[in-house]
Formats: sequence, C-alpha cells, structure tokens
Amino acid sequence: MKIVSACLAGINCTYAAKSNENKTIVDLVKSGKAIPVCPEQLGGLATPRIPAEKNGNKIITKNGIDVTSQFVKGALEGLKIAKMINCKEAILKSNSPSCGSGQIYDGSFTGKLIPGDGIFAALLKKNGIVVQTEKDI
Ligand code: SF4
Repeated sequence: MKIVSACLAGINCTYAAKSNENKTIVDLVKSGKAIPVCPEQLGGLATPRIPAEKNGNKIITKNGIDVTSQFVKGALEGLKIAKMINCKEAILKSNSPSCGSGQIYDGSFTGKLIPGDGIFAALLKKNGIVVQTEKDI
C-alpha cells in the first residue's frame, strides 16, 4: 500500500484550494492500492492558505509567518498513517515544501528550484519509505 499526495489524487487541498490531479494516482487510489494524504491540512493549516516555502530549516509563508511547527505536525501525522498501512513507497507532489523530493522551491517565491526534500518527504525517507514524485511514474 502506498501513500500519495492528496492533491495528486484530485483533492482540492493545495494552498489555492485546487488539485494537481494525476490519472495514474487517481487509479491507484480507486483500486485500493494507495491512500491520499495532505500533510499541510493534517498540520492544521487552512485551505486556501498563504503559500509557504522552505527557507533553511524553517518554512515561511509569502507574508513572513513561520509555519514550521504546522508542517512538522502534519508530517508526523502523515507518518502515523503510513505506518498504520505498512507503507513502503510513496508518490508525492514534486517541488512542494512538504511533499517535494530531490528538489524544492528555494524560498524566494519565484519558482526557482534547489536540491532538497520537503518536510513530509524527508520524514518518510528517514523512516525507510521510498519516495518518488509524479514525474517519476
Ligand atoms: Fe499536495 Fe502535499 Fe501540498 Fe498537500 S502538502 S497540497 S498533498 S503537495
């Protein structure tokens, strides 16, 4: 059983209250092979919400609010779900400060990417879960 980013499964959970629907991911969920998770919502953040990006070890919104604790809480809640379903693999949304794997936005809100992992992707990897993005499938 896989964990997938809820926005890839068609859930309108992005900061703009939209989805990043991906047919392959939707099919995985429909066939009972994957569970959708949005760590930012699990961390208590509203939808819609002000976009945030990783800046060093912190997550800062576009208007300068530190939301690191909500991102960490959401990642821990998502990890609980992953452990509950004995998840070994995840497919997460690329570039996100939560879900991005391998590269993420650089904190300047200009669309520039730097090497790194989002908070949720990093936590899953630390716990032995293989993380891919929708671009890898
Ligand atoms: Fe999608 Fe992950 Fe962002 Fe939630 S936190 S909207 S699942 S990329």
